[in-house]
Amino acid sequence: MEVLMVQAVVGANWGDEGKGKITDMLAEKADIIVRFQGGANAGHTIVNDYGKFALHTLPSGVFYGHTTSIIGNGVALNIPVLFNEIKSIVERGVPMPKILVSDRAQIVMSYHILQDQYEEERLAGKSFGSTKSGIAPFYSDKYAKIGFQVSELFDEELLKEKVYRICEQKNVIFEHLYHKPAIKPEELLKELDSYREMIAPYVCDTSAFLWNAIKEGKNILLEGQLGSLKDPDHGIYPMVTSSSTLAAYGAIGAGIPPYEIKKIVTVVKAYSSAVGAGAFVSEIFGEEADELRRRGGDGGEYGATTGRPRRMGWFDCVASKYGCRLQGTTDVAFTVLDVLGYLDEIPVCVGYEIDGEVTTDFPTTPKLQKAKPVLKRLPGWKTDIRGIRTYAELPENCRNYIEFVEKEIGFPITMISNGPGRNDIIYR
Ligand code: GDP
Repeated sequence: MEVLMVQAVVGANWGDEGKGKITDMLAEKADIIVRFQGGANAGHTIVNDYGKFALHTLPSGVFYGHTTSIIGNGVALNIPVLFNEIKSIVERGVPMPKILVSDRAQIVMSYHILQDQYEEERLAGKSFGSTKSGIAPFYSDKYAKIGFQVSELFDEELLKEKVYRICEQKNVIFEHLYHKPAIKPEELLKELDSYREMIAPYVCDTSAFLWNAIKEGKNILLEGQLGSLKDPDHGIYPMVTSSSTLAAYGAIGAGIPPYEIKKIVTVVKAYSSAVGAGAFVSEIFGEEADELRRRGGDGGEYGATTGRPRRMGWFDCVASKYGCRLQGTTDVAFTVLDVLGYLDEIPVCVGYEIDGEVTTDFPTTPKLQKAKPVLKRLPGWKTDIRGIRTYAELPENCRNYIEFVEKEIGFPITMISNGPGRNDIIYR
């Protein structure tokens, strides 16, 4: 398949749709892969010739020798995590990837991670199901204009003044709200010094680099994290993440013109899964859920970063149609379809019943919490479809399932993933 100059790979649902696999696959023809939002709170699982990897910060293209991997300005940059990730893949035989880090990216500090933990403790049962990676405090501080930008690491005078100012502010919360030890400016300075040492070789103006790359006609892939329903504006607020998960934000988080994003590949999973709290209309429970979780993904549906068992559900046409629309989908990649081969009948959520009325429009959270799924049962295909490489060879009921979903969501399914490997893909 032809690769356009700038394309984005994003998720339509709650994340874990298999974006990592699709990015890894498309990266073969890309020159540059860019992470534009999020941090080390979610992960991508990738299976390739080097083995199976769970990446949290590195873009999924790092396994190809020909690509440049960029950590864009929109990312929540956890420097030690990035370093350990580079080290761990190199130790397993992957050639040292070419990595560039935006001088405008901001840094996840150790106190962000502490603050996340303390806040979850404080909320106890009412927590948001944070992965405690410091992401929410990080983005709060970024927009409160008290974050540390990578460029600031190289201005020692500025850092000295700033650490005192920030400790003063943070310690009010740490000591008085959480009743925890204060943070010390000298330790913060040391932390920042160590970050400077680790990151210095990679830092540059990545937006300028991308501008030149676009002018040279390079193929660029923007890699999103999580999915539409976790977007702070358009998702299931407040059970969302703290940075925009939409392709449109790719322009901001990478620093490129919005009109350059020509193709938006939205990854949609053939059934649903979610992590963390929040309304999940097509959720299933008990043995039915356990079986799907066990068979799901590649070795079960458990969080790539946290190992937490994911919540399971049937395919949700309402959420996916909405998720695809908000992404600005040009192509749908329909993934993990092989997993459904064990079912006699496959329930699909085709509508939400809210206060006695059925809708196919995804509502805001207060209404969403009242929604009950309207299910339709489609006949299963009861065979293993892994290894099939053409659409025509898929069992008829399987094609019917794909075509039913395509009609419901209203966006073209141009890729079907029927296994975790790079080659487990059917183009349509
Ligand atoms: P991401 O964050 O969107 O990349 O999602 P995950 O890392 O949770 O990926 C989903 C899981 O499904 C991973 O373990 C993948 O290896 C696996 N996977 C991706 N596509 C397929 C597929 O088509 N079939 C199967 N069986 N597994 C897949």
